[in-house]
Amino acid sequence: MNTPINSDKVSSFGRIFCIGKNYSEHIKELSGAVPEEPVVFMKPWTSLVAPGEKVKIPRHGFLLHHEVEVVFRVGTAGEDIPESEALNHIDAVTLGLDLTLRDVQANLKKNGHPWELSKAFEQSAPLGEFVSLNEVNDPQHLDFSCSVNGSLRQKGNTREMIFSLPKLVNFLSGVWHLRPGDLIYTGTPAGVGILKSRDVAVIASPELGEFSWEFK
Ligand code: MG
Repeated sequence: MNTPINSDKVSSFGRIFCIGKNYSEHIKELSGAVPEEPVVFMKPWTSLVAPGEKVKIPRHGFLLHHEVEVVFRVGTAGEDIPESEALNHIDAVTLGLDLTLRDVQANLKKNGHPWELSKAFEQSAPLGEFVSLNEVNDPQHLDFSCSVNGSLRQKGNTREMIFSLPKLVNFLSGVWHLRPGDLIYTGTPAGVGILKSRDVAVIASPELGEFSWEFK
C-alpha cells in the first residue's frame, strides 16, 4: 500500500542524493561519456513536491527538462554497507522527477561550476508516494515511464541502470553515513524533454503507481 506524503511531512526526509548518467541511452542523447564511478549530486529536501501540487517553471533558465527516476528511501542507517547487505537498508521505493534546467546546466558544465542552479532550485524534485520495498517483486526490474500531455516521452526499466541499487548504496555509504529518510534518485532513461507552462507530466510504473504534476 502506498504511504501518503504531503508538504507538511516532507521535512521528515533527509538528504536527497541524485545519480547522474546512470542509463546509457540517456548519456548518448546528451553526448556524454559513461562514468567510471557514480556521478552524485544533491538537492535539498525543500525541493520536494507532493503529487498534485502545481510546479512553477523557474525564471532563471529556458529549458526545463523532465527526468523520470526511480527513487529509493533509506530505512536503516549504515556506513560502508556491502552490496550484499544493501537492500536491508532500503525500506521503500517510488518514482520522482529530477527537474533540470538544461541550458543553465550546459553553461555551468562549460565553466566547470557546481550544478545547483540547474538542479537544486525550488520545486526541482517532485516525488510520488512510497511503496514498501517488500511489496515490489524485484527493485532491479521495474518498468517506469513519463508522459507529457498524454504523449509518451520516456520509458525505462531499472535493470538498465549502469550502477545497480546495491552498488549505489555501497558507494554512497562509503562517503556518507546513510540515515533513515535519505532518498536516492537513481538516474533517468532516454527521452528527456522540455516542459512548458500548462503541461501535465504523468510518471507511472505498474508496481509503484501513477503520479502527476501540472506546470505553471
Ligand atoms: Mg537525473
